[in-house]
Amino acid sequence: MESKTPMLEVLRRVIQEVNGARNLDAALATMVRRIRKAMRTDVCSFYLYDAEIEALVLMETIGLHSQAVGQVTLRVGEGLVGLVAEREEPLNLEDAPSHPRFRYFEATGEERYSSFLGVPIIHQRRMLGVLVVQQAEKRRYDEEDEAFLITMGAQLAGVLAHALATGSLSKPTLPGGQAMFTGVPASPGMAIGEVVVVAPLADLDSVPDLIPTDVEHEIARLKEAIECVREEIRAAGERLANRISAQELALFEVYQQMLSEAALSQEVEKRIREGQWAPGALADVVRRHVQYLERVDDDYLRERAADVRDLGRRVLAHLQEETPQTPANFPESTILVGDEISVATLGEVPRERLAGLVSLRGSSTSHVAIVARAMGIPTVSGMVDLPLPRLSGAEVVLDGHRGRLFVRPSDELKARYGSLIAEEIALTEVLEHEQDLPSETPDGHVMPLMVNTGLAIDTAVSLKKRISGVGLYRTEVPFMIAERFPSEQEQARLYRDQLESFAPLPVVMRTLDIGGDKDLPYFPIEEANPFLGWRGIRVTLDHPEVLMVQLRAMLRAAQGLDNLQILLPMVTNVDEVDDALRLLDRAIRELGEEGVVSPRPRVGVMLEVPATLYQLDALAERVDFFSVGSNDLTQYLLAVDRNNPRVASLYDSCHPAVLCAMARLAEESRRLKKPISVCGELAGDPAGALLLMGMGFDSLSMNAPSLPRVRAAIRRVSIDAAKALVQETLALNTPVAVRSHLFGRLSEWQLAHLLPPRD
Ligand code: PEP
Ligand code: MG
Repeated sequence: MESKTPMLEVLRRVIQEVNGARNLDAALATMVRRIRKAMRTDVCSFYLYDAEIEALVLMETIGLHSQAVGQVTLRVGEGLVGLVAEREEPLNLEDAPSHPRFRYFEATGEERYSSFLGVPIIHQRRMLGVLVVQQAEKRRYDEEDEAFLITMGAQLAGVLAHALATGSLSKPTLPGGQAMFTGVPASPGMAIGEVVVVAPLADLDSVPDLIPTDVEHEIARLKEAIECVREEIRAAGERLANRISAQELALFEVYQQMLSEAALSQEVEKRIREGQWAPGALADVVRRHVQYLERVDDDYLRERAADVRDLGRRVLAHLQEETPQTPANFPESTILVGDEISVATLGEVPRERLAGLVSLRGSSTSHVAIVARAMGIPTVSGMVDLPLPRLSGAEVVLDGHRGRLFVRPSDELKARYGSLIAEEIALTEVLEHEQDLPSETPDGHVMPLMVNTGLAIDTAVSLKKRISGVGLYRTEVPFMIAERFPSEQEQARLYRDQLESFAPLPVVMRTLDIGGDKDLPYFPIEEANPFLGWRGIRVTLDHPEVLMVQLRAMLRAAQGLDNLQILLPMVTNVDEVDDALRLLDRAIRELGEEGVVSPRPRVGVMLEVPATLYQLDALAERVDFFSVGSNDLTQYLLAVDRNNPRVASLYDSCHPAVLCAMARLAEESRRLKKPISVCGELAGDPAGALLLMGMGFDSLSMNAPSLPRVRAAIRRVSIDAAKALVQETLALNTPVAVRSHLFGRLSEWQLAHLLPPRD
């Protein structure tokens, strides 16, 4: 291995090139060349696994005959490359031809090579291809070689998965087919539509590719944008002239030169004429320059890369200012896709055109997900692997139940989803007829249903006669939409709205539950492990001034209504409850002194940290009711981040351990004579709701769109059958066994149509 080119440096460069490449085929060609050079070997090849023909195809090589590209195909298990793919393990051979699996492919001229090192490329457990180096003379590739190639393969995997999905890697044997991405299901439902990419302002990496309708117009607005930036920089330079050193001031000169350099604008113009709109062309050109500058071995020039990027962003910001998306621009069935989607952006799309949402970041509890659920818009979050810029205008199928996005769906898939969507619509219409009927089993067991709220739109009047109250009002939602902590009066108005809309039904208001993944823009919390950090009551007890304002606002809002209940989130220790109650009593006292007399509302604790399972007696002495946050209880019991798509398949509230904990909580609360409800997502799942009813929970609180299915399930299953279901389920050992048992029983009861679609 060449000592002058450290491995890490080669790795970094290759990955940067591959990542930044608009044309992955070209990047792969560079990659094999770089690997061959770094490893000082004769051959480096890349075989892509093509799932449609179930074979590995030689995609790129340096060293083998180039005519073999696209011609040589191997089944998994066939030849040495096939063996690497089959075993999903590296294979390092000094004398490859003597291996029993060695197979000779004439087209490659391979017989001349003795040594072989192959590593599989695996993305999310899926084998995507094989990376191979070969050498004419016998050579034992050493540990470092092997480690290098494995690292290369691991890095390449994600990039390759993107490229395959978007068709930016042209397969030699087949046209690019349908691709599937997975994320975290954030709001149920399915949709077929067209992608509109929401580009964050001035982010060169998220500019979508678009074909310009008017080339001359694009060029004119590019020139205008460059002129604006020149002017900005000139003005900034003047403003700072007396305050910064001559050396720093010289930087403004450099910027001006870069902008006036005919080269940059000419290059962008050329790219526009080739068929890119101005922002896309600018992003392409800037990216190319930045990459070039970052690679040169000259500190001064490398630093200029940052300048070019900065200038590029400034120009882009001007271009984007000019391209507002008007309501009429949105396709009939818009699937909004963005890095992060704000509630404000969501509001720009006319509701009847908004079919679905996809965000790269965020989670099932980010506020846009909460809004989406309340509005019934299918949503998937945490799609970290999605290549945003290349998706604009693509046809997609979105599956919010399972957290999937299919790009360029096949006709067959579209037809399948088309009928699933039609079934869902038909079901909603049928279920609507029984929504005013009681939530009661055929044998007369009443199962009170409540709703989770957080937004003004949740206070729909039609809801009121169908529920027993609000089981969870997430106060952090209005806080997230605001630009600063709302004042006591502002909060009191918001809370009054909620309490009045649902009175005389009870409204359970949870104190501010920020932290974890719920950030306030004006109160950022940066932590390495936010879900194990400063969250919920931990934050508000550290900031009694915030909690006091909130408690006072709640008490004020409840004047004369008497339907307020207060819920404490993220409780771990009994003394946290004592502290919160002390503050509540103080708030009551203080208001009393101001002439506002408030009765002490009922207070409850969220059971969501596993520690509370073992402190129920002590908690019961202090509060009036319990509410189980099954979302967090699941994440903490299973040690699975509820928003991490990599481990999303491990997150399941039907895990036997979670169900066992839930059953125990219901039983213990009975013993302690404390009412207990569930307000996590499990309560809104018809099968989950039946289990919880069988366990003996006193009420279930869910998003309003989940009510119809849950009510339908309850009205068709007797309490005894639900109790039996609990016993059968608790005897099972795996989440898969639980899910399939539930599906089996619900199918027997002719209720399978109430469950989300299964594979
Ligand atoms: C829960 O954890 O189950 C819950 C209802 O609260 P949140 O989803 O807001 O954390
Ligand atoms: Mg919670």
